[in-house]
Amino acid sequence: MGATRVLVAGASIAGPALAHWLRRRGAEVTVVERSPELRPGGQAVDARGVTKEVIRRMGLDAAVRAARTETAGALTVDVDGKVLETFRADDDGGDGFIAEIEILRGDLSQVLYDDTRDGVEYVFGDRIAELTQDADGVDVAFAGGDRRRFDLVVGADGLHSGLRAMVFGPHERFVRHLGLVLAFYSVPNEFGLDRWLIQYQESGRSALLRPIQDATRAMAMFSFPSADFDVDHRDVAAQKRLLRERMAGFGWLTPRILAHLDDTPDFYLDQVAQVVMDRWSSGRVGLFGDAAFSSSPMSGQGTGLALVGAYLLAGELAAAGWDPQAGFAAFEGRMRPFVEANQEIGRMHVQSLDAPPPDAEPSPEPDMEALMALVERAINGVELPDYAGVPDSGALAGPPTTPPMTSSARP
Ligand SMILES: Cc1cc2nc3c(=O)[nH]c(=O)nc-3n(C[C@H](O)[C@H](O)[C@H](O)COP(=O)(O)OP(=O)(O)OC[C@H]3O[C@@H](n4cnc5c(N)ncnc54)[C@H](O)[C@@H]3O)c2cc1C
Repeated sequence: MGATRVLVAGASIAGPALAHWLRRRGAEVTVVERSPELRPGGQAVDARGVTKEVIRRMGLDAAVRAARTETAGALTVDVDGKVLETFRADDDGGDGFIAEIEILRGDLSQVLYDDTRDGVEYVFGDRIAELTQDADGVDVAFAGGDRRRFDLVVGADGLHSGLRAMVFGPHERFVRHLGLVLAFYSVPNEFGLDRWLIQYQESGRSALLRPIQDATRAMAMFSFPSADFDVDHRDVAAQKRLLRERMAGFGWLTPRILAHLDDTPDFYLDQVAQVVMDRWSSGRVGLFGDAAFSSSPMSGQGTGLALVGAYLLAGELAAAGWDPQAGFAAFEGRMRPFVEANQEIGRMHVQSLDAPPPDAEPSPEPDMEALMALVERAINGVELPDYAGVPDSGALAGPPTTPPMTSSARP
């Protein structure tokens, strides 16, 4: 019998991480990414707790550490820039507000892509247009015209997953808007930033700046409340209009940051939302990463869920002899409590930003013990089996056993 052929949709974080583990477990992997090249941009993402162990098992500890930001910590400031609070990167053993392993999302995506590009077929600028499954496989028609058959298909195509809509039902059924919108883009570092992230917040809105690229540029982030969100996630002009409108009149360095909106190379804006589904697979088709269980950027763990989940999903599928029903079910059993703890953190974080009205009753003291237990579950609350007996070709094992296929396009 030949190797199991798996098609993964999406080449951001979840897709390439899953491709790494699927390939190591012996599958033949194709990744299809709608964008014509690897997408840059985004703020920093963190690796905490068990995620660091998965990075180590991937053999990517050195590559990830080499690409991490050199953030010393975070400062919160008032409207005049006076420092109110200081958080250092080495607080809480490196697993605190700013994690010791903090890496720009685009840089992590590049590390994962570089690691897998020689053993995995990447197809950029295409997407699944149609899919039909039967007892033995899945026939896929690509928008670009190709038709191919795979044993399994996994959607790692993000919050707005096209595969989810195609197989499981409409977006509205699964995506829960948390009432906040985030935008990220880079600007020239004309602010003299050096190793420290600076944040200003007021009445539910916030602005943040951090130095990137040897401090020649800065990554800006804005967040603002929004009861609903009906801007097309591909309409960048409408997203920029919305950002200008909602951040109008906001103080600190905001007008200077907004002045660079039209010439930034890497704008990204999206609703803060979670994906809640009662199952993540249907037959031979599964969902993974934000597409299945987004915990929102406010959990600080979307990337951790993708990296840890990739290890578990590939491990469970291989341990089940690539039987989709058994493999996907075993994965869900392991992963769900970890996802739920992180989704709870995401929701709590959003709620904590709500500014109480001036005449509100003081809120009760939080139960710190329960909170710390929840944080521990969100960071470390999942077991990583060693999958002894399951094939493992090893990290950085050189050429794969099957000849490498060529990428249709390489950034
Ligand atoms: C440009 C960008 C910037 C981001 N910035 C941040 C950030 O600053 N902070 C943060 O916490 N999170 C950010 N995220 C989300 C973060 O990457 C995820 O929460 C987490 O890493 C899990 O990633 P994912 O791979 O499941 O989903 P995503 O990172 O959303 O990636 C989904 C991928 O699928 C591709 N895709 C979409 N539709 C299709 C389709 N039909 N067929 C094929 N491919 C498709 C997308 O182009 C994208 O590359 C960002 C995501 C993107 C794409």
